[in-house]
Amino acid sequence: MLLLMILVQFVQNRAGKLLALVEGHTFYRDKQNTNTHVWRCTKGGWCKARFTLTNDLRLVRGTFNHVHQQTKYIVLRWVKKRTGKPLAIIDRFTYYCAVKSSATSTWRCTKGGQCKARFIVNNYMEITRSSLLHDHPPPNYVIRNGIYLKI
Ligand SMILES: [Zn+2]
Ligand SMILES: [Zn+2]
Repeated sequence: MLLLMILVQFVQNRAGKLLALVEGHTFYRDKQNTNTHVWRCTKGGWCKARFTLTNDLRLVRGTFNHVHQQTKYIVLRWVKKRTGKPLAIIDRFTYYCAVKSSATSTWRCTKGGQCKARFIVNNYMEITRSSLLHDHPPPNYVIRNGIYLKI
């Protein structure tokens, strides 16, 4: 059986516009038909990469051959632990705030120990530096109403 394994994530750009993220490439919502909508590569121009989603977000078709490098784009999600402590999630890995200075804060992998994955954000919550290589699989958890629950 041939499985089309394409992960579509939805993110907001700084202007609050909804974008779709597939394999590091961003897409904007273009045409809306009755049951489907078309998303096109935000690069535009020569790049003809696009895909079609149904209204219940199933991928019906897509071409993902981009004529350019992917934009450096990291999906960063902020949640809270039950204790109220903030956590950051990138790619299913969780990070806690390890060091906070007046201009930046350093977030480290919650696994600690040998894992050196970390990133630095400035006061605008923009990532200024990152090293996101882990030596372990991501933890198992669910997010309910913005609260992180370990399973
Ligand atoms: Zn493209
Ligand atoms: Zn790690």
